[in-house]
Amino acid sequence: MNILILGSGGREHAFAYKIAQSSQCEKLYVAPGNAGTAEMAENLDLNPTNFEAVASTALEKDIQMIVVGPEDPLVQGIADHFSTQPELKHIMLIGPSKRGALLEGSKERAKEFMAMYDIPTAAYESFQKESLEAGKQFLETLKPPYVLKADGLAAGKGVLILNDLEEAKAELETMLSGKFGAASEKVVIEEFLDGIELSVFVLTDGENYQILPTAKDYKRIGEGDTGLNTGGMGAVSPVPFASDEFMQKIEEQVVKPTVRGLKEEEIDYKGFIFIGLIKVDDNPYVIEYNVRMGDPETEVVLPRIKSDLIDLLEKTWKGELHSAKVEIDDRAATTVMTVSGGYPESYEKGKEISGIKQINDSIVFHAGTRKEGEKVVTSGGRVIALTSLDEDYKKALKKSYQSAEKLHFDKMYFRKDIGFDLA
Ligand code: ATP
Repeated sequence: MNILILGSGGREHAFAYKIAQSSQCEKLYVAPGNAGTAEMAENLDLNPTNFEAVASTALEKDIQMIVVGPEDPLVQGIADHFSTQPELKHIMLIGPSKRGALLEGSKERAKEFMAMYDIPTAAYESFQKESLEAGKQFLETLKPPYVLKADGLAAGKGVLILNDLEEAKAELETMLSGKFGAASEKVVIEEFLDGIELSVFVLTDGENYQILPTAKDYKRIGEGDTGLNTGGMGAVSPVPFASDEFMQKIEEQVVKPTVRGLKEEEIDYKGFIFIGLIKVDDNPYVIEYNVRMGDPETEVVLPRIKSDLIDLLEKTWKGELHSAKVEIDDRAATTVMTVSGGYPESYEKGKEISGIKQINDSIVFHAGTRKEGEKVVTSGGRVIALTSLDEDYKKALKKSYQSAEKLHFDKMYFRKDIGFDLA
């Protein structure tokens, strides 16, 4: 089978790594890809949100399956583009339709969906510019900290958590006045949940589902989870505190009603659901849905899946996931993300990366890298994720850190405390 992966990060390199292991994979393409995907696939200079270009390339290269990495093409309707055109609809595009993707594309929609299907989540209300005063009054009824969320996609920056009531009111006003453009024309205000976060990944064909390994990521730039939010600085799978009993609650209270909701609303959903949860007193609460895999969570989830990924994805597209069996590696996986100095604020690109070939205890997943002649240079904030497997997460982390020490580029930074809250 010829397969095209859309995206250019560590997540897409992890997909390429896993898909390339399948005997069913004939020719693998990644668009636009990075220096890592270039080693195992052919990179194509394509913008994943240019559906016409993706479609014509898919036809030209006789692609049978497309795996969509990031959310933007999904929220913009790439799945609908393929499923509604006669010459494209035989292509197995893995990702939800636009209506499905709205679970990530609109926080208000996600909250309404959760309310509709009795999925546990924080109490909330949503406001627009016209209801600013009502929003301020709603804030007065809540206890700090105050959680304000831009309704639309805001590149991971649209959630603000504030301790001071006056500051929260002022921020609400700024958001509704266009702080995040159209994304904050509506703002969801919700109750603060005090607990520990984890993510659960599900593969669904819209009717059946398979639960994939859990993961916990580390979002902040600084150690001890301090400083600015990033795309993610590391991850651990499985999450040690996700006991069988707790996972049972997640399946019954969250996964089943989510899939039931998709079915009841006749939403065409063939892809991944990433459920962001907070565990409060042994109970799961959903804080967000993402309609694709996470980055860097994919870098720890996929290496633990022993089953043939193409087979799982094909069953997903065909509505046959009930007959799939997901075999999971018992070992723990960890990943440590190396980033450019300055990230997530301004940073320089084009720094030569050395030491990659010396790494033999970890899987090297490229994120922001590109080839420059024979050299591999940095081309983004997050540069390389180092994933390791071992019998427990502490041993795996040790390997990831030993690998990080072998890697070099000017102003390289990584957090040295991934997993610090799990001991
Ligand atoms: P991401 O970048 O993870 O996709 P996002 O912008 O889509 O984030 P959320 O995941 O909804 O937004 O929220 C971002 C972070 O804010 C969460 O990871 C969590 O730490 C925190 N958060 C969100 N909602 C709540 C809540 N109700 N109570 C406590 N913390 C929360």
